Amino acid sequence: MRLVVQKYGGTSVGSPERICHVAQRILETHRQGCRVVAVVSAMAGVTDEFLRELDNLLATGEQAAAALTAMAVNALGGTAISLTGSQAGILTDRNHTRARIANVSPKQIHELLADDYIVIVAGFQGQTPEGETTTLGRGGSDLTAIALAGALNADVCQIFTDVDGVFTCDPRIVKEAEKLDEVAYDELLEMTGSGAKVMQSRAVEFAKKFGVEFEVRSTFKPETGTVTREETPSMEDIVVRGISIDRHQAKLSIAGVRDKPGIAARIFSDIGAAHIIVDMIVQNASIDGTTDISFTIHQDELENARTILMPVLGELGARRLNTASGVAKLSVVGIGMRSHSGVAARMLECLGRAGINIQMVSTSEIKIAVIIDENEAERAARLIHSEFGLGRLLPVAAATQSLA
Ligand code: ADP
Ligand code: ASP
Ligand code: MG
Repeated sequence: MRLVVQKYGGTSVGSPERICHVAQRILETHRQGCRVVAVVSAMAGVTDEFLRELDNLLATGEQAAAALTAMAVNALGGTAISLTGSQAGILTDRNHTRARIANVSPKQIHELLADDYIVIVAGFQGQTPEGETTTLGRGGSDLTAIALAGALNADVCQIFTDVDGVFTCDPRIVKEAEKLDEVAYDELLEMTGSGAKVMQSRAVEFAKKFGVEFEVRSTFKPETGTVTREETPSMEDIVVRGISIDRHQAKLSIAGVRDKPGIAARIFSDIGAAHIIVDMIVQNASIDGTTDISFTIHQDELENARTILMPVLGELGARRLNTASGVAKLSVVGIGMRSHSGVAARMLECLGRAGINIQMVSTSEIKIAVIIDENEAERAARLIHSEFGLGRLLPVAAATQSLA
């Protein structure tokens, strides 16, 4: 019998009617002769309200949704039972509110499946070795589903959400964005790591590490969605797979830093010790023994970072610290960039023609990212999207041919 792990996001279980719809989908899958483990998120909005509270409270959002979904399946004539993350065997480290999964031992799930139960698991949570409840960070139900699919060796893993799949760009920002049929782990990893919140980045990382193929698809439509899997040679033919925007970033520039070993390490170890996540780092070529170092962080951390850096500027020999919030990172992602040149030039030219100033640039093997004014981010995404022929009007192949 095929084992299917399904995950339903917050919008998908956002009202009693939607929970009934989800229950029907779960039951249909079961009636097709599959064993089903369904992971649910909290009803949309619930986690936002709770985020300032403790993990115990956070975890109840998903537990309520799981119990309600199980009750709805039972009311429709099925036999379902709900489990908390810890009952499902999700063991984590002790890092509250952003715990990492250390181990999954789904003994109880195996037993319930053997007794022909449909198992509904509360997503986004686990338990420490001491039995304390932890949560897995924003979007953590995705991780629950991927980890269970891996541990249960599921035949299919489906992530049901409020869009039809993974698109070339957030379809709420670029209306011409197109659904992708397939995407490589590395591409989706770069996209989600650069602001595309369609999947939790750590869930994609986990899926890649353990080879869990999964499909992102719509809760509200019958059509298939986007399959994420290990790359195949033909995937490299597509130069640009997608574009993502990371908003609410801040840029810090330390001018006139002494150019000698240990200075950059000092800056970033102080910032790191305060648990501030640094994204892009750029250091200028040195002139007269001094250099400028710029980096970006989330804008919520800006005051914190200023407080850390101001007292040490003298020690670093720095002239001044300039900061700017209200910037965004725009990233263009595709594994085809490994074998095709000219993508950066084309992206920068496109932004230049539109009068959009580029404040910082960074590249990886399969990504080019720029920092621009946040107010320009959506316009820039639309322009780049059409520049690389990602819209519905131009086939993706058009971009590939002109770049090859
Ligand atoms: P869920 O509650 O089901 O987990 P999320 O809100 O976390 O859903 O993720 C789905 C949302 O991700 C979509 O509504 C969409 O606005 C956003 N999104 C951002 N980038 C993309 C993309 N490239 N493709 C599809 N959706 C995207
Ligand atoms: N409810 C949690 C959140 O809003 C987990 C999830 O939706 O995956 O982040
Ligand atoms: Mg989500």
